[in-house]
Amino acid sequence: MSNFWETKTLAEMSRDEWESLCDGCGRCCLHKLEDEDTGDIYITSVACKLLDLKTCRCKNYTERTRFVPDCLELHSVGFEQYEWLPKTCAYRLLHEKRPLFSWHPLISKRENSVKKSGMMVSGYAISETTVKDVDDLEDYVLELQT
Ligand code: SF4
Ligand code: SF4
Repeated sequence: MSNFWETKTLAEMSRDEWESLCDGCGRCCLHKLEDEDTGDIYITSVACKLLDLKTCRCKNYTERTRFVPDCLELHSVGFEQYEWLPKTCAYRLLHEKRPLFSWHPLISKRENSVKKSGMMVSGYAISETTVKDVDDLEDYVLELQT
């Protein structure tokens, strides 16, 4: 039987299929910085205040945009916004017609494969609530997002 993520476009997926694509890595919940001159996007280790740093899940997923208005609702934003997603994100991968990684739970069939692969941010992310001055985000840059 074919896998839905290989036969359907993102727009064709059911809500359950769509939600199952999220691997729970938490990487989209890290603050990013954009270089105004080049358009390059950099990922920091500073996480949104609603991210549970242990489970890497949003603490208030259903009402998140009430508290974090700039949180991207992927289901409803345009695909041009996907450049803000990490290159390992399942939504971005499928949008760019690339395969899921072997550690994705839909491939591995194991819930803990994301953690084992080191893709979860739980080991290094800090909450924005513990950062003194959010204007200092440059001090927390981890890598260039490609
Ligand atoms: S980066 Fe993508 S796969 Fe990872 S938590 Fe965010 S939406 Fe889910
Ligand atoms: S509101 Fe929730 S889903 Fe949105 S960035 Fe924050 S932790 Fe992530």
